[in-house]
Amino acid sequence: MPRLEGKIALITGAARGIGQAIAELFSAEGAQLILSDINDELGQEVADKIGANAKYIHLDVSQESDWQRASMLIEKEYGRLDVVVNNAGITGFLETQGPHDPENLDLDSWHKVHEINLDGVALGCKYGIQLMKNSNHASIVNISSRSGLVGIPAATAYASSKAAVRNHTKSVALYCAEKSYAIRCNSIHPGAIFTPIWDTMLGEGEQREATIKAISAGVPLGVMGDPEDVAYAALYLASNESKYVTGIELNIDGGILAGSTAAPSSK
Ligand code: NAP
Repeated sequence: MPRLEGKIALITGAARGIGQAIAELFSAEGAQLILSDINDELGQEVADKIGANAKYIHLDVSQESDWQRASMLIEKEYGRLDVVVNNAGITGFLETQGPHDPENLDLDSWHKVHEINLDGVALGCKYGIQLMKNSNHASIVNISSRSGLVGIPAATAYASSKAAVRNHTKSVALYCAEKSYAIRCNSIHPGAIFTPIWDTMLGEGEQREATIKAISAGVPLGVMGDPEDVAYAALYLASNESKYVTGIELNIDGGILAGSTAAPSSK
């Protein structure tokens, strides 16, 4: 039996990268999908490619009015939600002027990153919980980052927002448990997953190849991850297979967080 048979799932930032991979895998596992993004052309293309079980809607996760509109539509057309994947996120490198280091950070840029990465997830949890009250087994999956678990000097807003997502996930998990809602909430912490989010950091041509090689050398498993690697983790947390799992953080990072570069070496 497909692992998400009968589940109604909303995925944010589903037009490309990790969100798209989650949408495709969830569809293959029998879910009814509401895909959302701000890139409407690409988002609609992904939904069309998936087929009749996928609907695309415009949803800027940082705008509460967008969430209210999406929520009314979902209530009317589906009557409930079983899964929300709060996946949309930005580094701020392309979308804001920066800088993003602790000494010189630009406050507007800092706020913009938090609006999307943190406010967007908080709103996704808020409207998700409201729509999940009629579900028997509901799951909220928040996409944080390995950067939410360690400091990133050049990307402080990104790291701070992702750390807050990790913590908010646990508050949501405990709140839902206290209220006896059948809603679980967990976070996923990807690291070095090869998607377009890296484009501005990788450069072009030979420089791009060299940067990918350098990043891969810093991953214990020796390569960057695929979006599907994260999608399989989201599938587990979305399905009833994880019915006893709430408030956890799941690292999908090729082993980056398993150790430290200051570890003693026999070489
Ligand atoms: P991606 O390829 O850049 O995809 C992100 C998608 O989110 C894009 O379609 C983007 O649209 C959309 N988006 C941006 N702002 C939005 C908003 N306000 N509302 C709704 N959608 C919005 O990134 P990805 O690598 O798949 O990342 C997905 C998630 O994983 C993010 O939360 C990211 O922080 C996290 N993550 C990724 C990695 C990695 O190595 N790739 C590592 C750790 C965590 P536009 O194209 O129009 O901007």
